[in-house]
Amino acid sequence: MTTVTGGCMCGAVRYECNAEPAFMANCHCRDCQRATGAAYFPTLVVPRNAVKITGEPKYYESAGGSGKLIKRGFCANCGSRLFALPELIPDLLGIPAASLDDPSIFKPSMDFFTVSAQPWHQMNPELPKFPQNPPMN
Ligand SMILES: [Zn+2]
Ligand SMILES: [Zn+2]
Repeated sequence: MTTVTGGCMCGAVRYECNAEPAFMANCHCRDCQRATGAAYFPTLVVPRNAVKITGEPKYYESAGGSGKLIKRGFCANCGSRLFALPELIPDLLGIPAASLDDPSIFKPSMDFFTVSAQPWHQMNPELPKFPQNPPMN
């Protein structure tokens, strides 16, 4: 993977990222569930300074599971979920896997916040599970 590109449904917000993800994972926290309207948030976590954003996403800020703030971006025109900016990992940014132009490159390595994973969603049993935040190193 060299440069990945993606954007929202209407195209008002586009991005490109020219670095390898630090990790790819599925977040099952309640806030991600509410923000996405889905069972979990599949995200590529990449270096913030490697992402070039065009257009103006709007951000909604709330306290994450760690107690630190997390900003969740979305397109104000079409409502598509975009970037996640957790204060806990200020050098990194989460890109929603489904916003990629080629979402098939997404290869999650873990599930986290599985404490709130939904019984109607079957998690991949082969992936490591973390009840809350994954271990950071
Ligand atoms: Zn849009
Ligand atoms: Zn989450």
